Amino acid sequence: MIDLRSDTVTKPTDGMRAAMAAAEVGDDVYGEDPTANALEREVADLFGYEAALWTPTGSMANQIAVQLLVKPGEELLCDIQAHVARFELGAAAAYGGVTTRTWAELSAPAIEAQVSPRGYYSVPTAALAVENTHNMRGGTVLPLADLRAMREVADRHALGLHCDGARIWHAHVADGVPFREYGALFDTMSVCLSKGLGAPAGSLLLASAERIAEARYVRKRLGGGMRQIGVLAAAGRYALAHHIDRLADDHARAARLATALGEYVAAPVRTNIVALDLTKAPLAGPELVARAGDAGVRLGAMSPTSARLVTHLDVDDAGIDRAVDVLTGLLAR
Ligand SMILES: *Cc1c(COP(=O)(O)O)cnc(C)c1O
Repeated sequence: MIDLRSDTVTKPTDGMRAAMAAAEVGDDVYGEDPTANALEREVADLFGYEAALWTPTGSMANQIAVQLLVKPGEELLCDIQAHVARFELGAAAAYGGVTTRTWAELSAPAIEAQVSPRGYYSVPTAALAVENTHNMRGGTVLPLADLRAMREVADRHALGLHCDGARIWHAHVADGVPFREYGALFDTMSVCLSKGLGAPAGSLLLASAERIAEARYVRKRLGGGMRQIGVLAAAGRYALAHHIDRLADDHARAARLATALGEYVAAPVRTNIVALDLTKAPLAGPELVARAGDAGVRLGAMSPTSARLVTHLDVDDAGIDRAVDVLTGLLAR
């Protein structure tokens, strides 16, 4: 089975499992897990932040950031397709008392016009969130110039700026932007070890030392204070050492899929996600998914007229050949 539904489906490699088995561990609620501490230090340094906090999921890292930057009753502005607004089951509202309002496209002047000032009548905007790469927009890489313009908007209005960097690794590999250049732009950033990097679990929230101290409280309140997480942190450290450069292979494989599926590709493919627009396809999304599945290729139906293919560690060139055969066959008119 060639599983292109998501880059979350990867299984730990033998090397990663060996690193996990050998990990030194301690009780992280007491701050005593040496492997988790080392991972937090490493990733904070990598992006140029003072501190980092391990979280079991990317959603938790995002939601802690939202609670740090936005008070109950205030608003977070983000993309209409943002993970933080659409795919975290309303957590910002349910746990943070936070309203989200969305923009239709990333344009700093248009977003600035949407910022709602502190006043008696309107919900005040407290923070902006960007997503890089952008999952539901076909893994698009946000240009550095646009991110800088967003920083200026945040500064002019004293807003927090969060980056959902679940796939920031892919942006770095695609655009060659150093991690620290990304890190310098945001008040808080979440990065994910269990997507393209292939760890079984774990994300990090990056911020100032003061914010991370508060984030520890919020994580515990959310039920995310975990104990001997060094076994998971070891997988993350292994992934950072071995699985970043190889993302270029995933990007090349996604590009091959995109070339083969030409007219159905919804957005230019630069990273590991291929979004398909099936409005003119001979079969609807769910039917395509079912028939491809019967032929050994799994993909994700996002709606009746859209689907998604994601390349990752556990799909090789032969798998892509097979996926191209199956999908071009089913989509031929
Ligand atoms: C996967 C993902 C997350 C985090 O998801 P979890 O499943 O909670 O780890 C956050 N943002 C984006 C853009 C993602 O794709």
